[in-house]
Amino acid sequence: MDYQSLLEEVAAHVAPQIGQGEPAQYIPALASVDPRRFGIALADVDGTVTGVGDWEVPFSVQSISKAFSLALVLEQDGERIWRRVGREPSGNPFNSLVQLEYENGIPRNPFINAGALVVTDRLQTLTGDASTTMLEFLRAESGNPDVAFDQVVAASEAEHGDRNAALAHFMASYGNLDNPVPTVLEHYFWQCSIEMSCRDLALAGGFLARHGLRADGSRLLSPRQAKRINAVMLTCGTYDAAGDFAYRVGLPGKSGVGGGIVAVIPGRCTLCVWSPGLDARGNSVAGLAALDHFTTLTGWSVF
Ligand code: GLN
Repeated sequence: MDYQSLLEEVAAHVAPQIGQGEPAQYIPALASVDPRRFGIALADVDGTVTGVGDWEVPFSVQSISKAFSLALVLEQDGERIWRRVGREPSGNPFNSLVQLEYENGIPRNPFINAGALVVTDRLQTLTGDASTTMLEFLRAESGNPDVAFDQVVAASEAEHGDRNAALAHFMASYGNLDNPVPTVLEHYFWQCSIEMSCRDLALAGGFLARHGLRADGSRLLSPRQAKRINAVMLTCGTYDAAGDFAYRVGLPGKSGVGGGIVAVIPGRCTLCVWSPGLDARGNSVAGLAALDHFTTLTGWSVF
């Protein structure tokens, strides 16, 4: 398979959509990113990576980090986390508060903000430094020692973080956080601020396509755990657009408001696409279109 030509064809097809939508406005440091950026990368299960466009330009991973924090907690703590967070689609925006009250402070799934805060809390308890643990993992899997936090983005998010603070305090009131709210928020904002390129992220998500094996061949997760993360990505990874994502793309996917989306073709490869213009649900417009066209061209969806 000539991945280079395939990705070039995808990029050409979505060119009219690049620049559509708007970069995330609620985190001021993200609002100024050029919406005309577009990159896509494909990492084969053997670690060969191909890309086109801005595929080597770092961007803010934001909620894509939620897939990695879940993986690290499952690795270290097994299935215990499911007592504190569900795995059902929420059908609500990623930062919604409404379901928490009638579900006693248990978030619907680990990929909405409330759920990710619980996972970060657990990772903090397990490791003593949740965000650095994730950074080191991402450096190792991507093979890029320059992967780093973006202090400006982390500070910008903390300054405008009332919604996440509200979610965290509300869950703390139900006893669903073990660490102090400011600690959980700090690590959550740091993990969201990590900057990576499509190349880095496609490689770092390789364990999801390799049924749990890390880049160096060692085991991170059992095949069953990897399957489960992919399943939750498929049903919850793009929030209240997960149904549409399954309909159009047909792959496990995790998006972030930095405009990135990681998608997994189990057993074959991991894709990462980036374009900062977002739709109303916080997913990249051109990124969705690119993955839609990719699976249409190749027939490689899980369906
Ligand atoms: N850091 C962002 C937030 O908490 C992540 C949201 C996202 O990428 N969907 O609001």
